[in-house]
Amino acid sequence: MASNSFRSQIHLGVIIILIIITLLTPITTYNTSPQPWNILSHNDFAGKLTTASSSIESAATDFGHVTKIFPSAVLNPSSVEDITDLVKLSYDSQPSFTLAARGHGHSHRGQASAKDGVVVNMRSMVNRDRGIKVSRTGLYADVDAAWLWIEVLNKTLELGLTPVSWTDYLYLTVGGTLSNAGISGQTFRYGPQITNVQEMDVITGKGEIATCSKDMNSDLFFAALGGFGQFGIITRARIKLEVAPKRAKWFRFLYIDFSEFTRDQERLISETDGVDFLEGSVMLDHGPPDNWRSTYYPPSDHLRIVSMVKRHRVIYCLEVVKYYDETSQYAVNEEMEDLGESLNFVKGFMYEKDVTYMDFLNRVRTGELSLKSKGQWDVPHPWLNLFVPKSQISKFDNSVFKGIILRNNITSGPVLVYPMNRNKWNERMSAAIPEEDVFYAVGFLRSADFDDWEAYDKENMEILKFCEDANMRIIQYLPYHSSQEGWVRHFGPRWNIFLERKYKYDPKMILSPGQNIFQ
Ligand code: FAD
Repeated sequence: MASNSFRSQIHLGVIIILIIITLLTPITTYNTSPQPWNILSHNDFAGKLTTASSSIESAATDFGHVTKIFPSAVLNPSSVEDITDLVKLSYDSQPSFTLAARGHGHSHRGQASAKDGVVVNMRSMVNRDRGIKVSRTGLYADVDAAWLWIEVLNKTLELGLTPVSWTDYLYLTVGGTLSNAGISGQTFRYGPQITNVQEMDVITGKGEIATCSKDMNSDLFFAALGGFGQFGIITRARIKLEVAPKRAKWFRFLYIDFSEFTRDQERLISETDGVDFLEGSVMLDHGPPDNWRSTYYPPSDHLRIVSMVKRHRVIYCLEVVKYYDETSQYAVNEEMEDLGESLNFVKGFMYEKDVTYMDFLNRVRTGELSLKSKGQWDVPHPWLNLFVPKSQISKFDNSVFKGIILRNNITSGPVLVYPMNRNKWNERMSAAIPEEDVFYAVGFLRSADFDDWEAYDKENMEILKFCEDANMRIIQYLPYHSSQEGWVRHFGPRWNIFLERKYKYDPKMILSPGQNIFQ
């Protein structure tokens, strides 16, 4: 007892000292002027470090296209040692320079940028022959963090195996999604991608490489998962695998009543042996049904759906999938028939597709290619993603979907809303989530024009302000906070642990400055 209280006093003391250091540390200590001339003349990086304007320009932007943050140089590493050397060089320099790992640059707000520092282009490490090792007996894959999830899927499927937790879109790197959480319609059952990793290699902000897992260097392991790149650069991840199903029965059900919609969603995610995937979306009285996420509905039904949306202004779509193969085909048909009968959607608005497992997981790609061909992919994406506690979701529907969004009448792009179970997450990881047992992911995945994206940003601010004023305890996913104060609120009581870990693993505040947490 006494030693526990002594320990907690020391712990509190350390936290207070860290806070005082943060407050007293003049910004200039870490607001370093970079020294690309030093680095460029360094033999270790010959031919790998570039200041070519095309590289600088592409490292300055991301999928969001709403920020332009220029680094001084870009490193194209060919080995883990290249990265370790660069981090060490920065750590040993006075002053140090900042570094950001850039996965596929699919952040939406400059999170993978390093103003005046060095962007590490992780994709230059990809070696198709060496980047992945699959253990059939251990049911895991050791993957270079620079690999895209689509590449991981292609490789594991060759052996009839697959990771179990996904993002909707697969052209994201393993390191990039593990730095956030990696969520999709499988999260309610398997947890986010960060809970499906067994081991990692991480280069800390001191330039030291460590293998970590829940049993080895566990604090670093949990810190890096959902850690926004703040504690280290992940170079390898061991990802849990299962036997891959062959096909997917993919259903959509339309609802006009939000409480029926969420009641059905919540029931389905509480079942242990039910559907394999569950998401949902909001369809608004703006333009054609859905858009880049799929060409799902049969063209012959578009008019019917559009007229239902027009009549009700906001309707909802429940999306579920059940995987199957030859042995389970008949059972799945029966199960899905029973499911259809038990749900409270608007009768006559059930849609079914039967696709390969790969086509299902890679479903966003079709939309991407179509938008690319029309020049509508590389446009501003002022996205807003939120975790909304279950107790607040009905208020969110009334005040945001049916309030702010309808009133402003500008939202374009998919609007996702689907629940997940808190017990599939792990509190020791850095990712922040609401306190309630069930919470919803809500995503406004907007596409805008270069001259009007700020209107969407204003709408995002309006939504955030409303939620804050109404004390809804929402938390941003893929967050953007313009000041440290926002981050302190983001983490709530866990901020001190985040801060403590930052001082432990990246004391010179070198890593991932684009997240805007410490710089
Ligand atoms: P980047 O944008 O390059 O980097 C993101 C952050 O991680 C940066 O701070 C960077 O410094 C850091 N980082 C990158 N690599 C490493 C590494 N190896 N080690 C440590 N830190 C690193 N997310 C979901 O969860 N679910 C979805 O369904 C989903 N769908 C999406 C669909 C689209 C079309 C897009 C564009 C994004 C989607 N995302 C989704 C968001 C996506 O997961 C994040 O934006 C992710 O960070 C992008 O991965 P990236 O590899 O491009 O990372």
